Amino acid sequence: MRLLSIVTLGALALAAPAGAVVNVMASTEDLADLTRQVGGDKVKVETIARGYQDPHFVEAKPSFILKLAKADLLVVVGRELEIGWLPPLVQQSRNAKIQPGAEGYLDASLTAKILEIPTGQITRAMGDVHPAGNPHYWLDPGNGRRAAKAIVDKLSKMDAADAAYFQSRYADFDKRLAEAEKRWDAQMAPYKGLKIVTYHRSWPNFTERFGLDVIGYVEPRPGIPPSPSHTIDLIGEMKRQQVKILLVEPYFDLKTPQSIARETGAKVVVMSPSVGGEKEITDYIALFDYDIKLLVAAIQETGAK
Ligand SMILES: [Zn+2]
Repeated sequence: MRLLSIVTLGALALAAPAGAVVNVMASTEDLADLTRQVGGDKVKVETIARGYQDPHFVEAKPSFILKLAKADLLVVVGRELEIGWLPPLVQQSRNAKIQPGAEGYLDASLTAKILEIPTGQITRAMGDVHPAGNPHYWLDPGNGRRAAKAIVDKLSKMDAADAAYFQSRYADFDKRLAEAEKRWDAQMAPYKGLKIVTYHRSWPNFTERFGLDVIGYVEPRPGIPPSPSHTIDLIGEMKRQQVKILLVEPYFDLKTPQSIARETGAKVVVMSPSVGGEKEITDYIALFDYDIKLLVAAIQETGAK
């Protein structure tokens, strides 16, 4: 009898009681926002990496371990974006629910469209930070939608009593995102095929989605700082192809981009890859509104075509 009740209690503990709030930890502010969009007031969401930080390199503070210890669900970007800081935190939380492979561990990359997946043997010479394909996939709104869908399906499973609520919030988000995409497509339409350079390979999903052509990077390889010889080659290529836009993520030193800009007449545009990267970027849709407005203004200013 006693054994039976322990087993019953154990089974009950797996699913949140009806109406309970699901405690979610998201590795980035983008995933935190997508979780809030579909979870509403049935989730409590906390974030580890802030939107203005380089998501490859985040300080692993002990306070995160305490928060992870209480989480029902951990949502991660995956593709090794967080490999330098998240695994030890998750391990030290000793929370069985959110370990990789457990029910409360959601890797949003598994249902996303991933670009730049390396083929053949991977070596360090290929770069330091993208060995499993490009992890910056949330910068295609189609992938934001896919991540939101993965999150809503997970929440509906964990808290079945609120599944209808989650699904209706997802439907609303999907609709608002589709409306916003029409607006972004219209803003970007005049610049199809525009050649640009970016600092890090943060933007392949964004540039593919909106039809820009990235002809080079300030980093010689992902995660490898600029070298003089690579910079000279890049300047030559930018002059040849008349590239006037140089996108830089907010957490990189502007010294090299500015010297490239001086040599080529290009404009340095500091564009945020994440929610929370700027005060105005309060949610996932605001991220694209902010970035596209900034980018279009810069393109118009340089007269680039
Ligand atoms: Zn990266």
